[in-house]
Amino acid sequence: MKFIRPKDVENLLENLEEDKSKKYFLAGGTDLNVQIKNGIIRDANIIYINHLSELSGISEENNIILIGATTSIMDILDSDLIKRHLPYFQRSLESFASPLLQNTATIGGNIANGSPTADVIPLLLVLDAKVELSSKSQSRLIYIKDFFNGYKQNVMKSNEIITHIIIDKNAEKDFLTFYEKVGSRRTLTISKVTLAGMKKVSGQRISQIRLAVGSLNEFPRRLFKVEDYITDKTLTEIDFSRVENLLGKEITPITDLRSDKEYRYHVCVNLIRSFLNQ
Ligand SMILES: Cc1cc2nc3c(=O)[nH]c(=O)nc-3n(C[C@H](O)[C@H](O)[C@H](O)COP(=O)(O)OP(=O)(O)OC[C@H]3O[C@@H](n4cnc5c(N)ncnc54)[C@H](O)[C@@H]3O)c2cc1C
Repeated sequence: MKFIRPKDVENLLENLEEDKSKKYFLAGGTDLNVQIKNGIIRDANIIYINHLSELSGISEENNIILIGATTSIMDILDSDLIKRHLPYFQRSLESFASPLLQNTATIGGNIANGSPTADVIPLLLVLDAKVELSSKSQSRLIYIKDFFNGYKQNVMKSNEIITHIIIDKNAEKDFLTFYEKVGSRRTLTISKVTLAGMKKVSGQRISQIRLAVGSLNEFPRRLFKVEDYITDKTLTEIDFSRVENLLGKEITPITDLRSDKEYRYHVCVNLIRSFLNQ
């Protein structure tokens, strides 16, 4: 195992361009260190990134909030800027692990690790956030909904790193919001089912709805079919058996040590029902 400590982001991006060996970034290390300790990762380059100030912090630019990839969950919970513009995002992250983990875990690490249970991702999905991927020659923006392409797989190239997460300042404006992370207990729990939801209601009609789930697929994802069916309907026009049917096509829950697939499906159905009735 080789450990590398770039002096700045430019130096880091040069290294990514030149060195083609298998590499991982050590941000908070809360996922990576476990994988190294368990022997899942061996013989790789480990690149420290947590000391690079250009990758950390929360700022505003015109209509967007820019969150550096190595910003910790605690920094997001403590941020006045996030409180002002994205209170739903901030409030929802209170159930992330425990204060100790919140201080160490980073937003970029949560995304890149790409666990089906990752708490940040369903929220970023309903907020329609973008991820900035940077290499030596360019930066590109990609919607978080297009970032994953398999279990812990994503579209990031070997010479790229996540540098920022970008959220529209008005992303929550006029939306009613919902977030429920169902686990075995309230703190330090891994999700069995997570539902994040945002909807706009005009009169009796749901004019816009975004739903995203965690722990129900190989990576967290939006429920586009369910959203399409609900959009522009009133509550009484919604046939809930149709919602259940469409949901069955969009999620692939599994049975594992935390829960079984039937439980996960029914909990998700109930969470959607709660949000619609809210
Ligand atoms: C006890 C415990 C409890 C936990 N509870 C929760 C929980 O409640 N909710 C939850 O969602 N997660 C939880 N986790 C998982 C973990 O804390 C999060 O996924 C965390 O956000 C990972 O961030 P990190 O900075 O520690 O990532 P690291 O461990 O440093 O890195 C993880 C992966 O991401 C890659 N990476 C890191 N930064 C970048 C970047 N900028 N660009 C590209 N790739 C990058 C690394 O190469 C590595 O593969 C828990 C973990 C533990 C050990």
